[in-house]
Amino acid sequence: MADAADDAQLLLEAHLARSIAAARAPIPAGVAGECGECGEDMPRLVHGRCGFCRDGRKRRALT
Ligand SMILES: [Zn+2]
Repeated sequence: MADAADDAQLLLEAHLARSIAAARAPIPAGVAGECGECGEDMPRLVHGRCGFCRDGRKRRALT
């Protein structure tokens, strides 16, 4: 019969497997160019959008 420690161990193993799978996913290299969303010239676009637009962050204004 499974007790709480067994349940915790199963949960931990499942979480670890998901984390490893996520870490193994290839990170797109990206290309330089103009962001399709904010129009800024960025050194790295993935699927035509810069990191700020992809993450939903506001680009910090340059002083
Ligand atoms: Zn952008």
